[in-house]
Amino acid sequence: MKVTAEIVNGKCPTCNEFTSLVGLTKEFYRCMNCGADLHQHVNGKISYLPVMSTRTDGATPFVKEWKDG
Ligand SMILES: [Zn+2]
Repeated sequence: MKVTAEIVNGKCPTCNEFTSLVGLTKEFYRCMNCGADLHQHVNGKISYLPVMSTRTDGATPFVKEWKDG
């Protein structure tokens, strides 16, 4: 099996540099410049958001359970 890391060019929101981003998965990329993990968002255009706060306290900010009653 073949492992290929996808490398794209993008602007890192953490260091504000236009640099190469290495794809870790389909959604997560790592900045080659500062090493920040970025979450790729595709909604019309591709943008990258830092994901450094998602794993520190075990909380998942994007998934909220709404309990009704
Ligand atoms: Zn960066």
